[in-house]
Amino acid sequence: RATLGVLGGGQLGRMFVHAAQRLGYFTAVLEPDAKSPAGLVSHHHIQTAYDDLAGLAELARLCQAVTTEFENVPAQALQTLAQTRPVAPSAAVVGIAQNRIEEKAHFAACADVSGVTCAPYAVLETPADLQAVLDERADLLPGILKTARMGYDGKGQVRVKTTAELAAAWAELAGVACVLEKMLPLTAECSVLVARGWDGQVVSFAPQRNVHIDGILAVTHAYAGNMPSALAERARAAAVSIAQHLGYVGVLCVEFFVVEDGSEHGGLVVNEMAPRPHNSGHYTIDACDASQFDLQVHAMAGLPLPQPRQHSPAIMLNLLGDVWFGADGQRQEPDWLGVLRLPGTHLHLYGKEQARPGRKMGHLTITGPDVASVKTVARRAAELLGLPGLDSI
Ligand code: ATP
Ligand code: MG
Ligand code: MG
Repeated sequence: RATLGVLGGGQLGRMFVHAAQRLGYFTAVLEPDAKSPAGLVSHHHIQTAYDDLAGLAELARLCQAVTTEFENVPAQALQTLAQTRPVAPSAAVVGIAQNRIEEKAHFAACADVSGVTCAPYAVLETPADLQAVLDERADLLPGILKTARMGYDGKGQVRVKTTAELAAAWAELAGVACVLEKMLPLTAECSVLVARGWDGQVVSFAPQRNVHIDGILAVTHAYAGNMPSALAERARAAAVSIAQHLGYVGVLCVEFFVVEDGSEHGGLVVNEMAPRPHNSGHYTIDACDASQFDLQVHAMAGLPLPQPRQHSPAIMLNLLGDVWFGADGQRQEPDWLGVLRLPGTHLHLYGKEQARPGRKMGHLTITGPDVASVKTVARRAAELLGLPGLDSI
């Protein structure tokens, strides 16, 4: 039996391991944490730092092919592995996705084929850049200052309304490389999952509509009619062309903004991409005949990519650590039994010991025969668990 490897031991690694094992593969996880969600369920757990050369050599020795479950893995580690094993996605594309400046340059470079641009922005790397933006780019305010590297779940972002706020925010971030993005009037957000094989074969899922609260994904709506179909088709085609333009191998998630009609952006704006399966694609495990993790396994192992088919409408509710704390701040076990009594609920818990507010602990996918019944159950489950975003369901 062959072994597939993954860098990183979080929940995405865990769901990858589940998918690989179902297909009969052994798995190896490289993760420094002794009790990580993926390390706990993998055949092999190499407990070293992501850039430890001995650990990487062991991963390469064990594995037929290697992938990563988070984009902030040192790109050098992927490069080291790639000397002896197929690595998907490549160090080069992960490097682009790790840096908003390069990521936006890539989106701009393929705007002609993808048909989408990103929000107006400026790069801030030096004090002179800041001065130029203060002097000449009032059009970007109000805006969002985002660190070029390491941001996720809205961390490393500051909303700024005035030039004074911008200067103060950049100073607060110690002058690290940033982009200042114009704040757009969003009417919705969506994301598209694409899988591309070594031979260039591409399959994709229909766009899912996402609701973020405080910068973190809260609810994903995955069913026909979740957004206007012309927009959905454009987003899907744009994501495919972005993946192709990168020569991408593996599963790629591209996030989009939908902005008010009549804007210069024609309704659809590309936000960012994740070089891996994505939180907004977790519904595919229960609502599709091939999940985003199945496709990741197929792509990296060089197996044919099935065009996934969604068999049920679905809503996914993210379960952050907040769910474990009552209104009084006391830790309590959520009402799982109440949730599991509801029809079509699929509970996924990631095996993390410490529930902390904002920490992704699990998710709940609701499937059903039609959209109306899925929404009814999702609202009931959200009420039972005290989840935010009820009014968006
Ligand atoms: P992720 O966990 O998705 O990687 P992130 O930290 O990289 O998050 P972004 O996706 O850039 O952050 O932004 C988080 C959220 O903030 C977006 O989903 C959107 O709701 C809001 N947002 C970001 N940029 C803009 C913008 N230019 N205009 C309006 N809202 C925005
Ligand atoms: Mg991001
Ligand atoms: Mg995002």
